[in-house]
Amino acid sequence: MKTPLKRLAILGSTGSIGKSTLSIVEQFPERFAVAALAAGRNVDEAFAQAVRWRPLVVSLATEELASNLSSRLRQAGVTGIRVVYGTEGTVVCSTLPEADFVVSAIVGVAGLEATHAAILAGKPVGLANKECMVAAGEILTAAARQHNVPILPIDSEHNAVHQCLRVGAHAEVKTIWLTASGGPFRTLPLDRFDAITPEQALKHPTWVMGRRITIDSATMLNKGLEIIEACRLFDVPPSQVRVTVHPQSTIHSLVEYVDGSILAQISVTDMRLPILYALAYPERPASTLTFDLAALRHLEFEPPDFERFPCLTLAYQAAEKGGAHCIALNAADEVAVEAFLERRIPFTAIPRTIEQVLASTPEAHPVTIADVLAADREARRMAGALVA
Ligand code: MG
Repeated sequence: MKTPLKRLAILGSTGSIGKSTLSIVEQFPERFAVAALAAGRNVDEAFAQAVRWRPLVVSLATEELASNLSSRLRQAGVTGIRVVYGTEGTVVCSTLPEADFVVSAIVGVAGLEATHAAILAGKPVGLANKECMVAAGEILTAAARQHNVPILPIDSEHNAVHQCLRVGAHAEVKTIWLTASGGPFRTLPLDRFDAITPEQALKHPTWVMGRRITIDSATMLNKGLEIIEACRLFDVPPSQVRVTVHPQSTIHSLVEYVDGSILAQISVTDMRLPILYALAYPERPASTLTFDLAALRHLEFEPPDFERFPCLTLAYQAAEKGGAHCIALNAADEVAVEAFLERRIPFTAIPRTIEQVLASTPEAHPVTIADVLAADREARRMAGALVA
C-alpha cells in the first residue's frame, strides 16, 4: 500500500530543526511535502525556502519583514504564496486546512499559541520545542487527549523514550532514564564555576545547538526542563523520571520496566533521525542514518552531581509543583542565561536567579495560554530585576 503524502507546517523553518526537517522532506519526496513555513526574522532564508518549497503560506515575525518577502517574491515572479506575520501568522500556518502534520520548532514560548491551536485543530504535532511542554504542558496534553491528537517528541531523549515505551504498558514502566552528556563542566572543580566564561560554556562536547540550549546544557537546566517535558509527555510523576550522566551521548535515553528489563535507544547523534521518526510514526522508513556498532567501544554512566548542578534540584522542585513554577523555571532561566551571555552575571548566578524567582512565584495552575503567557511575563520581570 502506498503511504499517503503528509503535508507539513513547519514552525521555525529557518532554525536548525526546521532546516533538518526540510532535508528529510528532500530525502523523502514521496512521503512528505511542505504546506506552510513559519520563518521568524530571517527574510533571506525564508525567501530561499519559499522559492524552493513553494508552500501555500509563509509567516514572518513582523509586518515589515512580511512585506519585504512579498515584494521579493513578486520581483522573482513567484506567485501563489500567501505571506502572513506575527503570532496570528504562525497560527495560520499551524491550523492550515491543507497541513496534515505540524512541526513545532520555534524556540521559546513564541511557538506556544500556534502549537496549542494546531492541537485544537486536530493536527498531529512533532514537538521540538521543549519550552512549550514545560510552560503549558498541562494545557497541551489535556487538549491532545481531548482531541485525540498525538504529540510526537523530537527532542532526542524523549524521542528515545517514546521508542522504548512502544514495547510495554504504561503501568509496567518503573523509571524513565534520561541520559545527559554532563556538559563541558562535568569534571571542573566546583570552586572554579564562578569564573566560567560564555566562551567556555558555549562549547558543548557532543551536540551543536543554539546558544541558550548550549548554556542550559552546561548548567544542566536543559535536563531539568527535559524532566518536566517527560512527566507531561509520558504522564508520569517526577519521581519516575531520573537522569544518568552518559558522556558519550550514544544512548539517547532508556526505559526501565518493573520486571527489571531496561530498554535503551542507540543511534547516530543526528537530529534528522528523531525528526524522521516523528514525521513517519508509526512507520519506520529506511534511512541512511546508520550507526556503526563496531565503533562503540565503551559506555559510561554516572549519577548527576546535584551540588555541581543546582538547576537539576530546582527543576525537580518545579516539576513537583507544576503550573506556574514550571513556567517561572523556564522564563527565569532564559533571562539569566541572556544576562550571563552578556557578561552581566556570573555562571553561578544563573541557578541563584532561578531559585529566587521560584521562591517568589505563587502556586498556580494556569488554564489558558493567555494565563501562561502572563505568568511567563511576570517571571521574566522578576528575573530581569534580579539580574539588573
Ligand atoms: Mg535533549
